[in-house]
Amino acid sequence: MQPVSDCLKKEKEKSMAHLIHPQNTVSILKKYNFQFQKRFGQNFLIDAHVMGKILASCGVSENDLVLEIGPGIGTMTQFLCERARFVAAVEIDTHLIPILQETLGGYGNVEVIQGDILDIDINRLVQEKNNGGHIKIVANLPYYITTPILMGLFEQHVPADSITVMVQKEVAERMKAGPGTKDYGALSLAVQYYADPSVVAYVPPNCFMPRPKVGSAVVQLDCRKEPAVQVKEEAFLFAIIRASFNQRRKTLANGLANCPQLLLTKGQIQEGIERLGVPITVRGESLTLEQFALLADILSEYHSHFS
Ligand code: SAM
Repeated sequence: MQPVSDCLKKEKEKSMAHLIHPQNTVSILKKYNFQFQKRFGQNFLIDAHVMGKILASCGVSENDLVLEIGPGIGTMTQFLCERARFVAAVEIDTHLIPILQETLGGYGNVEVIQGDILDIDINRLVQEKNNGGHIKIVANLPYYITTPILMGLFEQHVPADSITVMVQKEVAERMKAGPGTKDYGALSLAVQYYADPSVVAYVPPNCFMPRPKVGSAVVQLDCRKEPAVQVKEEAFLFAIIRASFNQRRKTLANGLANCPQLLLTKGQIQEGIERLGVPITVRGESLTLEQFALLADILSEYHSHFS
């Protein structure tokens, strides 16, 4: 990780030309008569200090291939291009493509791909651009699809060293929450299974144009080489986790019994919970990731296939 002060110094030197300077953002938006699309979660970063923190945390350097999700007008992309070997930036909004052509025109190491990140075969992209080698992912995410984007990256086993993302503050809290807390849930367990999460910065609404209604946070996810726990069937573990939190107020036994995909009888579930060594009345929210993994392995002995 580079020191924040170094990143900020570099940014200051170049900032007059950069879009991170609010007047530069305003001027390009005006030039193209750009209309913000609420449905795409468009809030563009205009704060150099926050940008410095993102760049210091992601640690992108000249050997890295970076995937940026949602470049917007290219504010962060410009900084990434100055540091990385190559940047692939996926943007859904066709109106932003001509703007990106102008703002990134001076960089020879970037490809803008117009499309929906949820439809893109990222493993294929990594194969084409980086020979399948590990990449770094950096994004100021559209908040309406934060969870599907992150889950997609994890479940497709995209080879990433790290994922540095701006997310809604509440989502950041959920990512790092532990058992027995109100924020603990399926997202916490999935993130912690695949990565080691830490909050790099809390970011107030005035750092964006337009201002979002919610607070934000930059989260650094250092991807694990091996998952945090070993299980026989990863998909079954996550089916158990999802079922446990679908009905938060119910006991774990009832939550699992009410899930038609699991194909387990209540008797099998109760026996499994007893074998785990926890009270039969336990709620899913008090189980650790290790306990979920153990429970999944125990219950996998009873089911043949789950749908
Ligand atoms: N990176 C820019 C910045 O920091 O100023 C823009 C961030 S803005 C919060 C989110 C960006 O993601 C927007 O440019 C939006 O158009 C884009 N976006 C939204 N949904 C997307 C999707 N499904 N696939 C790709 N990009 C998407």
